[in-house]
Amino acid sequence: MRLIPRLTLLQLVLPAALGAQSPAPVRAIDWPAIEREAVTLLRDYLRVFTANPPGNELTAARFLQDFLAKEGIEAQILDTVELGAGRANLYARVKGNGSKRAVALVHHMDVVPATAGTWTTSPFSGELRDGYVYGRGALDMKGEGVAQLMAVVALKRGGVPLTRDLVIIANADEELGSTGALTFADKHADLLRDVEFLFTEGGTNSVRNDTLRFRGIGVSEKRTFWQRLTVRGTPSHGSRPTKHNPVPRLVAALDRLARYETPLHVTPGVDRFFRDISRDYPGERGVWLRNVCAALKDPRAREWILSDVYWNAILRNTISITGLQGSNKTNVIPPEASAEVDIRLLPDQDPDSVLATLKAVVADTAVTFTPLIVPKAPFESSTATDFFRAVERVSQERDPKAFVTSSMLTGATDRPMYRRLGIQVYGLDPFRTNDVEFQRGVHGNDERISVANFVAGVRFLYDVLRYVQ
Ligand SMILES: [Zn+2]
Repeated sequence: MRLIPRLTLLQLVLPAALGAQSPAPVRAIDWPAIEREAVTLLRDYLRVFTANPPGNELTAARFLQDFLAKEGIEAQILDTVELGAGRANLYARVKGNGSKRAVALVHHMDVVPATAGTWTTSPFSGELRDGYVYGRGALDMKGEGVAQLMAVVALKRGGVPLTRDLVIIANADEELGSTGALTFADKHADLLRDVEFLFTEGGTNSVRNDTLRFRGIGVSEKRTFWQRLTVRGTPSHGSRPTKHNPVPRLVAALDRLARYETPLHVTPGVDRFFRDISRDYPGERGVWLRNVCAALKDPRAREWILSDVYWNAILRNTISITGLQGSNKTNVIPPEASAEVDIRLLPDQDPDSVLATLKAVVADTAVTFTPLIVPKAPFESSTATDFFRAVERVSQERDPKAFVTSSMLTGATDRPMYRRLGIQVYGLDPFRTNDVEFQRGVHGNDERISVANFVAGVRFLYDVLRYVQ
């Protein structure tokens, strides 16, 4: 009896979107079976050798195609010619009623290499030990790929009515050249024309001591804008110094660049990120983070905020001078000296004008700038979408004390290729892997995911896909 007024109150208090219609299964879903099958599928997928190079994703695509066929989902293997021998992308679509635009679930099939001797198990054995599935790709990102597929399978088996088509994409070559996503986005824009939301890796959850602090939905990332700086001179003998030694001239230019402080700039997603995390900081620090634009004008606040290397990197373009090349002999003045500089731009910056600024900072026309990489399309997605709200709702239900925020990645993923097509693209990590485990496992040794964490991730995505309908 007591429940009734409470429920009524709850319905009154909750925003309409939260209480609203979420499609339910029309047939009971056998969750223990789904979970068992998910673990088996993950272990088998980890055994498909897709270390990149060479990638070998065609075998993985066939493996996924066979699995999906058994569920009545027809998948196409694409781009085998463009990607070269042994490589492929995969595409499949589960139809909704077409009343809303589609959602795409994307993962990459390749993994980084692993050296057998440095693991406590064989990195491609898919071993199940002490409640963990071990293998290269368990976290990055075959685990998430399988969770995506099994969430779709659960929706299909349960007959959950869909308003949105669900598009499944598995790409080649994320870990090296991104040729898989590049080719897919270039050649198959028609397959993606109706896609409103797309999610893949790039979410950043914070789990400390097994408690989820926050779930970070990746809404943006920095743009890689590497440059090589070169000075030419006249080669001669080091015993007779000349004015035409390119090394000191380059060093002076690099010194000016190293001293240069890039301007601070707060993008909308970063503004929200600081506001969200401010609740974890009592006192004046919380006040600072609640309004980071204002805080950056206060020297004390600014010094504290910028002392965090991640916070510093999401508040400005960054410049790291990394490679350096002069003579390979102590007694030889070389004909040329060069340096490589790792520049990362905030998503809303114009590369040409940044480059013009850097040339002005260097202030020496003898220094030539050569781009080492073409910056990917700018990637920044909205937090005010049905997808973002669906993740917030699922997260709230499971972890009411944790919050959901928007995160910016300082590294690079395949997401800009899809964002360029006008799709709202997100990074979403369905798991709650603790920070230490995540740091150790991704690209490291003994990459693993606990079965409990993994199967909870399947259900997490199942609910996200239900609530976004
Ligand atoms: Zn990855």
